[in-house]
Parts: sequence; structure tokens; C-alpha cells
Amino acid sequence: MTIALSQFDEVRLDRVSRDFGALNALRDVSLTIRRGEFIALLGPSGCGKSTTLNCIAGLLPVTGGAIWLDKSRVDTLRPEERGFGMVFQNYALFPHLNVRQNIGFGLKMRGRPRAEIDRKVDEALSLVRLQGQEHKLPGQLSGGQQQRVAIARAIVIEPPLVLMDEPLSNLDAKLRLEMRAEIRRIHNELGATTIYVTHDQDEALSLADRIVVLRDGAVRQVGSPKELYETPAHFDVADFMGFRN
Ligand code: ADP
Ligand code: MG
Repeated sequence: MTIALSQFDEVRLDRVSRDFGALNALRDVSLTIRRGEFIALLGPSGCGKSTTLNCIAGLLPVTGGAIWLDKSRVDTLRPEERGFGMVFQNYALFPHLNVRQNIGFGLKMRGRPRAEIDRKVDEALSLVRLQGQEHKLPGQLSGGQQQRVAIARAIVIEPPLVLMDEPLSNLDAKLRLEMRAEIRRIHNELGATTIYVTHDQDEALSLADRIVVLRDGAVRQVGSPKELYETPAHFDVADFMGFRN
């Protein structure tokens, strides 16, 4: 494959906190993500999922703690220095650029040679199954296709870590199921490491190798779908997961 993601052993959050004025949006969040894992950050609205992801991406400074990529401290780096791939709920595509230009934008900004950009964009297009659509503008695509462009754009820069914030919540139910499977397929084909934010228990249970349950800015439980199902650590986890009889 042409697209080769940067390799590392683990990403580690060490007692990360983030305050907004008097609000402690994150409180001492500690977490280790290993290479190749698909991690879901799960919890109700307002529990701190997006804040966690934005702190990892560097879009939001932490107010305490540290974030490590192996032995390098990254929470002091600018987002572009971290180079993580981001996929948002609202796609955030450039409306005036076609599919090919949207996907290649990050490589162009990095000053990569034209031939390399063409090669990598071709492979990303094929990975997300958008061949034949490359000259369309985002406005001419369906929601699912737009999200495929956003995914291609995130992975074409060969990030060590792919971060997704509720990427399917603007899609209808049928597309949501289809894209859920696509996201896991792409993760597997690339050998990516993915952190996926969702408030949807079904999504987390069906997609993730491990689920991190957040509540009020703190980690409530971390485990595989099976572990959460069989041994929820707290009543509220069981309740939120819908495991209550
Ligand atoms: P989630 O993504 O789980 O829905 P967020 O991480 O967006 O939750 O928000 C966590 C908490 O931090 C919420 O109480 C939210 O209102 C607050 N918050 C998030 N961003 C800001 C901000 N820029 N300024 C003030 N408060 C914020
Ligand atoms: Mg959010």
C-alpha cells in the first residue's frame, strides 16, 4: 500500500484535565491507547468526549496533565506538529474544492511533490470507494459520500492516530449502519489506530476493541464490549449501556 501510517507503540493520557472557567470539563483523565486499537469514547452529551478528543488533537490546550506518544510529549505541540487525522460530525470540507482537491489539501500544504500527492490521493479514493467521484464538489455528494471524503482526507496525511468525533450523527439510520461498517473496514485495512467519539452505545459496542465510558469529565470504566457487558463497574454504567433488566 502507498499510504503507510506513522508507527508508534502507545498514546498515553496522564491525568489530563481541562477547565472552562469554573467548570472542570475533564478531571484527571488517564488512558493508554495501543497501536492498532479501535477505541470508543462513550458517554452522554456534555460528559467531555469532544473536549478529550480536541485536547489530544491539540485544538484545545490542556490545563493539567500531559499527553505522550511513546516517549515524546505532544500536548505542548501545535495541532499540525502532532499530525493526527481528524474527522468531524459536520465533515468540514472546502465547498469550492472538488473531492480530489479536498483530499489532497493537507499534502499540498505540507509541500509534497505533485506525483506523490496524486498517488496517495488515488489510493485514498480507492480505500474509501470514491473512484469516479473525484471531480465533484462536496455539494454534489450525498452525506455518506461527503463523510467518505472527510475520512480520506484524514488518512491521506498518514497520521499515527485517527480521531473521529460523532462522524455519523448527521446521516440517516440506514447510511449510519453502512458507514459504521465502512469505518471499521478502513481501520482494519490501514492498520490504523482510531479514537472514536460517540454517545451511541450500539455504535461503541459494535465498532470498538475497547470502550472508555466517560461521565462528568472523568473515566468511569474502560473495557472490551464483553467486559462492560458482563461486569459493569457501576450501576450508572450498566444503566447507560442499557444492560439493566
Ligand atoms: P461531549 O462532547 O461529551 O458532549 P464536551 O466535551 O463538548 O461534551 O463538553 C464537556 C463540558 O464542557 C460541557 O459541560 C460543555 O458545556 C463544556 N464546554 C465544552 N466546550 C466549552 C467551551 N469552549 N467553553 C465553555 N464550556 C465548554
Ligand atoms: Mg461532543
